[in-house]
Amino acid sequence: MKAYINYKRLKPLTFVTGLLLTFIPNLGQAQKILISVDMEGLAGVVTEQQLGPSGFEYQRFRQFMTDEANAAIDGALAAGATEIVVADAHGNGQNLLLEKLPEDIMVIRSWPRRFGMVAGIDDTFDGVMLIGYHSSTTNKEGVRAHTFSSARLTDVQLNDISVSEGMWAAVVTGHFDVPIILVTGDDIAIKEVKDFVGDVETVMVKEAMGFHSAKTMTPAAGAKAIRAASEKAVRRIRDFKPYKMPGPINLDVSYKHYRPTEALDYLSIVDRIDSHTIRFTGDDMVAVADFFVFLLEYTSYLEP
Ligand SMILES: [Zn+2]
Repeated sequence: MKAYINYKRLKPLTFVTGLLLTFIPNLGQAQKILISVDMEGLAGVVTEQQLGPSGFEYQRFRQFMTDEANAAIDGALAAGATEIVVADAHGNGQNLLLEKLPEDIMVIRSWPRRFGMVAGIDDTFDGVMLIGYHSSTTNKEGVRAHTFSSARLTDVQLNDISVSEGMWAAVVTGHFDVPIILVTGDDIAIKEVKDFVGDVETVMVKEAMGFHSAKTMTPAAGAKAIRAASEKAVRRIRDFKPYKMPGPINLDVSYKHYRPTEALDYLSIVDRIDSHTIRFTGDDMVAVADFFVFLLEYTSYLEP
């Protein structure tokens, strides 16, 4: 074999092949990625002490959250991503340390906002990553398991399926034909999403041992694993299928308390299907997601 190689011709050929390989499997196509970052599913998070400004470990965990986001960004860029938008999707929506993120991305902060945790999504994206996600309120297992509001909601269903925030994200982004390509969190959270969407890259940064307990990777190890999985996910981005839920879609929301359902029942577009549950039917997931932002955000005391 060796005898037949003409080295004078090989050099420019190798250069061209190398250039092509750099862009495979994207073959010159831009890859636009949305990275939604929650906090309960980060390596190390077990209680509210890591999750909000009053917790003794919160400031350090803002750094760890930013590290996991950066790991996802680095991996995506290494695989050829050309545009990245990061959505700060926890608590007050102002957790990520902006000065520690690269200059060539955009960040979505604070609430309310259309499409919530996956705000910014539209049909120009190629893939969505869910970093630091947690399991649903109807799951008996999972660290800090809840669905959108641990204080207010006991179930959120789409066409009779109880969904987690990750599953909800899959239906919203699926509306725009964009697949979930990576989900990270505890073992329970990633199983919920994987069982729902099928093929998806995952990183289990901790094993749930209870609502407030886990056997966890260190933040540094978690970030390292996320960087590798992110790169792999973007390299095989064509393998993932968007989740399609055909309309009309029934949204059933169960409240912990009695009065929200009583008040919402005054709306002609709402059915109170039991004492603690209301139903809204939307033509598609955009209509459902918009109504859900209203449910989460409206009070008569809004100021300014
Ligand atoms: Zn959260």
